[in-house]
Amino acid sequence: MRWQVDRWLWHFLYSTSFRLRYFRPRDRPKVTCFPMKIHEYQAKQILREHGVAVPRGVVAEAPSDAARGFDELGSRIAVVKAQIHAGGRGKGTIQSDPEQHGVEIVRSADEASRTAERLLGHKLVTVQSGPEGRIVKRVLVEEGCEIARELYLGIIVDRAASQPVMMVSSEGGMDIEQVAARTPEKIYREPFSADRGMASFQVRKLAARLGLPNKSLRSADLFLRTLCRLFVELDCSLAEINPLVITKNDELTALDAKINFDDNSLFRHAALDDLRDLDEEDPAEVRAGKFGLSYVKLDGNIGCLVNGAGLAMSTMDLIKLHGGEPANFLDVGGGADVNQVTEAFRILLDDANVKAVLVNIFGGIMRCTTIATALVEAYQTVGFNVPLVVRLEGTEVEQGRKIIADSGVDIIAADGLTDAAQKVVAAAG
Ligand code: ADP
Ligand code: MG
Repeated sequence: MRWQVDRWLWHFLYSTSFRLRYFRPRDRPKVTCFPMKIHEYQAKQILREHGVAVPRGVVAEAPSDAARGFDELGSRIAVVKAQIHAGGRGKGTIQSDPEQHGVEIVRSADEASRTAERLLGHKLVTVQSGPEGRIVKRVLVEEGCEIARELYLGIIVDRAASQPVMMVSSEGGMDIEQVAARTPEKIYREPFSADRGMASFQVRKLAARLGLPNKSLRSADLFLRTLCRLFVELDCSLAEINPLVITKNDELTALDAKINFDDNSLFRHAALDDLRDLDEEDPAEVRAGKFGLSYVKLDGNIGCLVNGAGLAMSTMDLIKLHGGEPANFLDVGGGADVNQVTEAFRILLDDANVKAVLVNIFGGIMRCTTIATALVEAYQTVGFNVPLVVRLEGTEVEQGRKIIADSGVDIIAADGLTDAAQKVVAAAG
């Protein structure tokens, strides 16, 4: 039962309606508490280790390393690629240097060094990075590939079918989002068994859809089937190769690679923890994660502290219904002990946009008296500078309310959800 509720909940969190309501485009890449993201060069290293074809490359953190990397590769043409946790780098530009794109072809060590210089330490803005952009800390210097065709390949978990599904399109490259929006029929889906992996007949079917030449079939079989196995083995939530290219030699190669892992299974892959780049994650979300809090920052001015993701979402709904805007999604989980509540308050109050806070807690397994004590203690520790509205309900609620009333702390008590939402919207306004 618990498992089913969780499954439903995550499905809902991911659903378009939820994202449209609460995660505006600039918030979306920040939803770091669900998938764990890694850089392209790390994804390619994983692909290489599993036997999936990727171009040779060298990672550089300084222009001189990029020049050395170019010489090491020994290829006539190389590509310098900014490493950030956002796609669209090829079309993206450096904020202070709009001529400079995030992916650039270079023909000499000197040119590699100059390009790296223009990328490293600068903010790259792409369609996925949000207008604030991301600082480039590393570049990948990669051998130039002779591209015959650019295809698209992505694997995700189809939650409705409870199976992984591979999606391919012959319209690969930098405009796949437009293909998905305008001509979705050009994207083919092939579900595969998580236990048995993708079968060769399925590869042949996809190869036909993609119009692959016969000479590429062997390469395609190895590439696609290995990728499917890797996806399941490492508990990925996304593996996207865009572009997947057919080279002039009719071989398949991953020219770009994006791999996300399911957070819930990271405990099974301790080695993956080293691949995490905390610089790319929202500091408040990282901090929240350490205390077992699920936190996602949003654009509004009403901080919310709620126990249970479902209750958190209905709280956000109510705030919006009464004309307010939530500043965050914050689920303290079933426990809600004093440490968690204190840290949650600190995170909320660190956000300069927050003009009022609503605590909406249902005392189910956890009694309201315990929660009330934690609230009062956390309030006194943190030192509140904005109005705090509290709605408590559940086991031992009367005694809980009394603890708050008797404590002398300046809390606005609310009676019911509507009252709480109205009071906090008024307090923030
Ligand atoms: P993004 O998806 O972030 O824009 P990609 O890695 O897909 O970045 O690169 C953008 C484009 O640059 C690709 O579609 C491809 O045409 C070109 N490209 C990337 N890597 C190479 C390479 N090693 N050799 C040749 N062209 C490349
Ligand atoms: Mg790409």
